[in-house]
Amino acid sequence: MKKLYPGGKAKVFTVSYDDGVLQDVRFVELLNKYGVKGTFNLNSRLMRQEFAWTHESGMVVRRLSPAAARSLYDGHEVASHTLTHPYLDHAGRDVILREMGEDRDELERLFGREVRGFAAPFTFWSREMADCARLCGFEYARISEESRSFAPPEDRFNWRAGIFHLSPDLEDFVDGFLATDRELAVCQIVGHTYDLDAAGMWGQMEDILRRVAACPDVAFMTTLEIVRYLTEKGML
Ligand SMILES: [Zn+2]
Repeated sequence: MKKLYPGGKAKVFTVSYDDGVLQDVRFVELLNKYGVKGTFNLNSRLMRQEFAWTHESGMVVRRLSPAAARSLYDGHEVASHTLTHPYLDHAGRDVILREMGEDRDELERLFGREVRGFAAPFTFWSREMADCARLCGFEYARISEESRSFAPPEDRFNWRAGIFHLSPDLEDFVDGFLATDRELAVCQIVGHTYDLDAAGMWGQMEDILRRVAACPDVAFMTTLEIVRYLTEKGML
């Protein structure tokens, strides 16, 4: 018999967005409107510094303050994205452990709930980082490399992103997901919500959420919920 997600759903859809910026407010409103659940990967130290930077489009991107973020993500997952968003390519183990562990502790204090997911900053990932994520108490680590696949992850500490939202074939990918009859299909879209402003793609994103939400076969879960479900079923 075909394996299913909770509620007897054949497939699952999720989004995983990084950096905790102002545009998350509008994005969470959209997710809530369509009953879609997301994971938001935050840098607790940078949130405290009200860190802002200029995007290549000239737009100033601002992070959410702890006060602004506190209740925003209710109903969604808060996950770690390191304390300070460093390049970890040549970092020592002590630095990696601090960036992961202290961010997790800080986010748990800030949000008053457990934080068990990790998303890598930038594109570098290594076996040592996977080890460190495990040691810091995370249950999974999502990396930047795309899988372009609907297959459930095989290694939860090397969870490749489904598709980056600025990919030109985003629509085709979503169409493929809606059409697939692959067992336990997963569609994960990853990105940063400031891109939705910079690329003028709020309408396109809402259209995707509307179409997926209208499909009766699709469950909506956070990345952590998917990991836990697949683990419980002995699939991961
Ligand atoms: Zn990031």
